[in-house]
Amino acid sequence: MELKDIVTNESAFLKDRNVLSPHYLPNTLLYRDEEMNKIRYAIAPTLKGERGKNLFIYGKTGTGKTCCTKKVIEEIKTITDIKTKVSYVNCRIYNSRYRVFTKIISDHLSTYAKSGYGLPFLYERFIDWIEEDGKTFLVVLDEVDMVKDLDELVYTLSRANDDVKSGGVSIIGISNKLSFKERLDPRTRSTLYEDELVFTPYISSQLFGILKQRVEEGFKENTVEEEALAYASAIAAKESGDARYALKLLAKATELAEQKKLSKITKKEIDEARKNVEEEIIDEAITTLPEHQQLLLYAIACSSEKSFQKLNDGKERIVFSGEAYDRYISISKSLKKEPKSIRWCREYISDLESLGLIRTQESGKGIRGHTKLISLLYPPERIKKVIEKKFSL
Ligand code: ADP
Ligand code: MG
Repeated sequence: MELKDIVTNESAFLKDRNVLSPHYLPNTLLYRDEEMNKIRYAIAPTLKGERGKNLFIYGKTGTGKTCCTKKVIEEIKTITDIKTKVSYVNCRIYNSRYRVFTKIISDHLSTYAKSGYGLPFLYERFIDWIEEDGKTFLVVLDEVDMVKDLDELVYTLSRANDDVKSGGVSIIGISNKLSFKERLDPRTRSTLYEDELVFTPYISSQLFGILKQRVEEGFKENTVEEEALAYASAIAAKESGDARYALKLLAKATELAEQKKLSKITKKEIDEARKNVEEEIIDEAITTLPEHQQLLLYAIACSSEKSFQKLNDGKERIVFSGEAYDRYISISKSLKKEPKSIRWCREYISDLESLGLIRTQESGKGIRGHTKLISLLYPPERIKKVIEKKFSL
């Protein structure tokens, strides 16, 4: 690419570069009519000024939870004669009760936003604001599992319903973590899960449709081969049915084709993109893990390098969970961090597994109780490198 093209953002392929941005919201979302209707029905009472049921949405990454919810929020904003206000909160960023409240305040009561008021004061303003015209407030907590003091947050939001004389608060919670529900405090769970909605992974033909739509909305004519799209969809469907992954493949392939000054994006560029995207995804998965899960994963990676036990295919090395814990404890101590209990580590293991970073197997009889056999699904050197950078190990 020429420097001037980079500067002017001129591309041989794209009419609108935004279509490949993670923040781009297409005009119509495909294959999710049922799910979006479910959200619409769930929030209808709130829009009518009643208190509806709280809704919990879950499903794997890239199944469209965020974009479908945002779409419905956009619809709410086009209805003018209602007393409903909405806040969309990305809990990856606003990851505590206090931060969520400051986000709500800055969305709607900006005069109080910048002065470092305490939570009790902000809560009072919030209650006054709801009561002033008996409004209903809908808060969307996306990636809600990232909130550190979630029980407190849910308690405070639902308590608002008892504290207001008119109006009310409803919650939509969203999470990528399938096992999240089981781990919640029973009170928090019954508040959040009054109603549930599951987003299932996309199949290959749906991913193809989603990619095709982006190409139509943002690419110049005849610059992407259909075969390339079909190939990208098949790869993403096989990985996890994740639309984000499919879109990343297309974005990376576009970048490669631009660099090589090609006139068309073909299967070959998708193939090359794949390696890049996979690395990006591992890096992202690791860097967004909570600290102690990173340390445990690091311990697994170190043990895996030293392990001589191999699984059937001879490539995957097995680590015994006990060995990984021991190593985790000594790594934590050497970093002057209090190690978490074995019970927590078991939870972490199941998180790492649901993120697709490791695979586990119960050990057969004869090995000490509760032992799991862990195998790492990515090269240990790669995982170690990412974590070492973060902790300056
Ligand atoms: P999740 O929140 O479930 O992880 P997102 O809503 O962020 O998933 O979707 C991931 C990416 O895929 C986004 O860029 C989104 O625009 C796109 N996407 C997901 N579902 C659809 C769909 N049904 N139609 C068009 N684009 C979609
Ligand atoms: Mg999301």
